[in-house]
Amino acid sequence: MSSHEEITIDTVLKNIKFQLDFKNEALIRSAYELAERAHLGQKRKSIIDAYIQHPLHTALNLAIIGLGAKTITAGLLHDVPEDTQVSLKEIEQKFGKEIASLVDGVTKLGKIKLRGTKEELYLENLRKMFLAMASDIRVVLIKLADRLHNMETLEYLPPEKQQRIALETMEVFAPIANRLGIGEIKGRLEDLSFQYLDPENYAYTEKLLHDQYGQRKKNIDRIVNELKKELLREGIDVVAIFGRTKHLYSLFQKLKRHDMDIEKIYDLIGIRIIVHDLANCYETLGIVHKKYRPLVGRIKDYISLPKPNGYQSIHTTIFGPGGDFLEVQIRTKKMDDEAEYGIASHWIYSEKKRKLKNFFMKSKHAVPEEELVWVNQLREWQSDIGKDDQEFMEGLRIDFFKNHIFAFTPRGDIIDLPEDATPIDFAYRVHSEVGNRATGAKANGKMITLDYKIKNGEVIEIITSRNHKNPSHDWIKFVRTSLAKGQIKKYLKKEGLL
Ligand code: MN
Repeated sequence: MSSHEEITIDTVLKNIKFQLDFKNEALIRSAYELAERAHLGQKRKSIIDAYIQHPLHTALNLAIIGLGAKTITAGLLHDVPEDTQVSLKEIEQKFGKEIASLVDGVTKLGKIKLRGTKEELYLENLRKMFLAMASDIRVVLIKLADRLHNMETLEYLPPEKQQRIALETMEVFAPIANRLGIGEIKGRLEDLSFQYLDPENYAYTEKLLHDQYGQRKKNIDRIVNELKKELLREGIDVVAIFGRTKHLYSLFQKLKRHDMDIEKIYDLIGIRIIVHDLANCYETLGIVHKKYRPLVGRIKDYISLPKPNGYQSIHTTIFGPGGDFLEVQIRTKKMDDEAEYGIASHWIYSEKKRKLKNFFMKSKHAVPEEELVWVNQLREWQSDIGKDDQEFMEGLRIDFFKNHIFAFTPRGDIIDLPEDATPIDFAYRVHSEVGNRATGAKANGKMITLDYKIKNGEVIEIITSRNHKNPSHDWIKFVRTSLAKGQIKKYLKKEGLL
């Protein structure tokens, strides 16, 4: 999916991983026609490309990671309301509420601009992304596909913009792709950002990898051939076997941890073996070890103990015939798709949900509980949706933030609160003086009591008194956050009331 190539809607359709019925093909084609007409005459910064190439590439990225017709349709339309004469309302009339709300979600996410310190920016963006995700994860996936193409064509923008976008991609988008387990997009986003943020080290790492690969290519080809023969002889049906190199940015990070000593990086270049089922993975591991001596302590079984983001694979480092170390990764086709395309691949594999869940259950103690619950809930939720996103239920919310709610200030800032938090908790989170002077509150413009339980997504307005401070013992009884409790007690103590 080279980003500089001109593609057509047929390229997108060809890459869809579902059986596309007539209705859905018509849906996608009509979205394309609308987008093409709407963007007509517009150019991207690249000057050469007609604007339509951007939504087409976004849609192609979505098709490749396995998403369904509605998401691809929304991907084609994602810049229409923002940049053209065609309004969101028209999109809704033509394509329905669900697709319009996806497009709207992407437009809203696009309005988040970089501000504040690096950390603040990261958290703010992350929260907004999560909030969007809580209503529909497909919005985030479209945003990632959009960002990927923007990064791939970043060279056409002025240097200042390049830096801003690359930083944002590195700090916000790549971690989210990682969190969603979309290794392929994460790696590409990081490498593209790396190139702009640290061109010297990028060039250095690229050359290093290129040289190393050149030196070892012969060996790798030889091992691939030998293993192919051996596996065939042992009756293992190999789906694919190939040499692979690490992504540049992750290689550079690893080099920094190992005093820039390339000799210490064992997984620089490796071989991936993809087989049909789980039993084949372990059999293959045995065959690899029979043929090449494994490096002790380097066998990692992420199948029985998946990584926190759900990654599953067996890794082993072997002594190759040339005497170099080489990492071999063994996994099933399904695990490979999940590692590359993450959460998105669940649209394809949803029916095998139970099996996967059992894996997670068995290894529950092995990875941090919180992380696991997060991924598990995502997966669970994902598989409830069904095979394609057609069956997506309107208004469905992921509850992986079960214990969290997000509320907005009237200015649009996000306040993160525990479940059942009240306007008093909200007020103290904004500022201790807002808490101390609170006399009333509104949720979405309507008066609420001070012990009201705030709901996710509500805009909370605190009414304060200029002349009076009001904390009382009653407040302590209903507030949920220790911050509010502490502040109320502090005030009461100072006033001699506690
Ligand atoms: Mn876009």
